[in-house]
Amino acid sequence: MATTYQTYCERCESRLVPGAAYCERCGERTRKAKGMVRLAIRVELVALAAMALLTIGFVLAFYVQH
Ligand SMILES: [Zn+2]
Repeated sequence: MATTYQTYCERCESRLVPGAAYCERCGERTRKAKGMVRLAIRVELVALAAMALLTIGFVLAFYVQH
């Protein structure tokens, strides 16, 4: 994964600690942290979809058996 190094906050433009997820001054999330959140949401959606499919599969199997 190519990570563009962010050294300044996008909101208040204060200097960031290298690799920081949040700005120490205003609390704004860095680009890296935003990307991580987006990835987490995507993983969660995939997991939810898999769970829904499994549930539907079980329900269908239940109805087929009776
Ligand atoms: Zn800031």
